[in-house]
Amino acid sequence: MAVHLSTPIHKLTRVGKVTSERLAKLGIQNVKDLLEHYPSRFEDYSEKLSLNQLAEHQIGSVFGVIKSIETKKTPRKKMQITECYLDDSKGTIKIIWFNQPYIAQTLREGDMISVAGKIEQDFNGFVIKNPNYEKALADEDFLHTSRLVPIYPATAGITQKQIRFLMHQALEAVDEFKDFLPGKIKEKARLSDKNTAIKKVHLPASSKEYLDSARRLKFEELFLIQLITEQSRKKLRAQNAPKIEFKEQATKNLVNSLPFKLTDDQRKQSWQILKDMQKKEPMNRLLQGEVGSGKTVVAAIAALNAAESGFQTALMAPTEILAFQHYETITNIFPDRPIALLTSKYARASTNPNASRAIIKKEISDGKIDIIIGTHAIIQKDINFNKLGLVIIDEQHRFGVEQRKALKCKNAPLGRLSLASTPHFLSMTATPIPRSLALTLYSDLDISSIRQMPFGRKPIQTKVVEEKNRPKAYEFIKQKISQGRQIFVICPLIEESDALGIKSATEEFEKLKKAVFSSISIGLLHGRMKHNEKERVMSEFKNNNISILVSTAVVEVGIDVPNASIMIIEGADRFGLAQLHQFRGRVGRSSEQSYCFLFTDSQNAQTKNRMQSFVNARDGFEIAELDLQLRGPGQIYGTAQSGRFEDLKIARLTDAGLISETKKYAQDLLDNDPNLGAHAQIKFEIEKRAQELHFE
Ligand code: ADP
Ligand code: MG
Repeated sequence: MAVHLSTPIHKLTRVGKVTSERLAKLGIQNVKDLLEHYPSRFEDYSEKLSLNQLAEHQIGSVFGVIKSIETKKTPRKKMQITECYLDDSKGTIKIIWFNQPYIAQTLREGDMISVAGKIEQDFNGFVIKNPNYEKALADEDFLHTSRLVPIYPATAGITQKQIRFLMHQALEAVDEFKDFLPGKIKEKARLSDKNTAIKKVHLPASSKEYLDSARRLKFEELFLIQLITEQSRKKLRAQNAPKIEFKEQATKNLVNSLPFKLTDDQRKQSWQILKDMQKKEPMNRLLQGEVGSGKTVVAAIAALNAAESGFQTALMAPTEILAFQHYETITNIFPDRPIALLTSKYARASTNPNASRAIIKKEISDGKIDIIIGTHAIIQKDINFNKLGLVIIDEQHRFGVEQRKALKCKNAPLGRLSLASTPHFLSMTATPIPRSLALTLYSDLDISSIRQMPFGRKPIQTKVVEEKNRPKAYEFIKQKISQGRQIFVICPLIEESDALGIKSATEEFEKLKKAVFSSISIGLLHGRMKHNEKERVMSEFKNNNISILVSTAVVEVGIDVPNASIMIIEGADRFGLAQLHQFRGRVGRSSEQSYCFLFTDSQNAQTKNRMQSFVNARDGFEIAELDLQLRGPGQIYGTAQSGRFEDLKIARLTDAGLISETKKYAQDLLDNDPNLGAHAQIKFEIEKRAQELHFE
């Protein structure tokens, strides 16, 4: 049968229903997918070992004829041992496989085989245990032995041997790949042909050959992404945006009314945003800043200027609690402005306390409300803005791309804006985007950073607390509570079945209440609680009627209780570093010294290292880089947007050199051929890829 790129995987030899289902889990449906399933590493068995010159610990391959082969059961019948003697005319070696009795059925006396593994020595002499093997003639191509052997990302029930066997069949179709990189670029960047690169990336003759081929494929992958983001940036620039003037007096009044002085960074970034919004093209900016660095006022300044220019602002938060808190903060900042809160549960209007949901919606569509705050409820179909000029999304990495898109497109088509126009867009996050991401997947965004904390904040003291010191920590907490401070205790999800971590938080709550802090008021917060109940607990904590709040990760984002000065994190190893950093940011919001205590029962050295690097890290920017290296991007940014990150087939976000190189090539190409009219194949490829990456 002829194999093509489009050939379904089940058509390949030895792929049945079960195997093709398993391969589907790896995203492999056809031959093309398989060929684009790249090795994650190699084992080097290329050294050919001669049986009369062996030494212990050598790694390589031996080649010879089978003298004898049989499977025995160990006396207690727990294990089956296949013993084989191999002869290469210079010597003999013993080979052992455990619990793979079928090997004695496939291999026969007299067969020529190649065996790859590590030479060990036992009382009878040299032996190789559980090696790769294959039947082969001396001058034949080897797949599993006698070479750099690829190791692939796999899944349960799929063996490396199987993948290599299938890859071998699939490679027959490799010449069908279209090489759409322009010859000039290939020449300048010293890139080989695509089909050669794919062949060699699977079966390289040397590690240099692998690296060169991988570079070729990474280049293509990053180049496409750079073209996509670069184009999307250009497309956005070509759109009309509402012109929002800088209202100097109103802005000054607002700044003067604040109970604090803005930090230089807050001032600079506000100014940058105001400058963006005066332009004809829509702003697309990310404001990243440490938890507690004061992003909300920057957002408020932007919203004020929009309102003064006659435009509405939508502010979207990922949770009800956060939306509510923003509403409180923003209505405090603007006591006289019409501001609405809309979530699936709340519907409030600051200037009309009795308004129903229906009335609020009408006031929004009539343009009577300046700032609309809510969760994704504000992008529901039945809500129409009148003249939306600015969209602000808090903690945007928690949103699905679709939601973001929906809000962006809801630009009041029926409102008073007659020109089709795209609102300015500001997203805010306390999980900074590492530089490599900013240069690739997010390069359609302008980025502002607030790196400076408000004056007078003391750095939070962070410690990993050994279990034996737990009582000491509790004593310390009691002392702080007696001085009027408040404490967070975060609990992780422990069992799969306890997907929201409710059980662990509830148990911790009971334990602390009964055994440790019996005379102290303790509250419990988790995602399954009734909305009103949650809100009651939160406001009791805010009002300091509760001293200790035991919570699941729901408290993660944005809750602002300046009086809380100790953050306890149980099972800290179960959280990502960026998430730990978010938790820690719940304290340290006043001039009081704050603490973060991490508990973990893991003895794993790697985990301990990870915890220690968290303790040592200076800020969220450093943590974001660490997290990216340790866990990969999908984990950090949640599954909602992982499409943008996890789809990289071969490039890594650590390929810094290639990332900037490809960016230059992409900009060059688009400068010379903005619509890719002369590069139809590239145009086709990026449209396909943009869809996969959920780009607009
Ligand atoms: P985040 O960046 O995490 O969203 P917030 O905007 O919630 O931070 O601000 C955290 C706290 O710091 C709030 O209580 C806010 O009023 C206060 N704050 C903001 N800017 C300043 C400042 N320049 N000086 C002092 N306190 C500030
Ligand atoms: Mg915030």
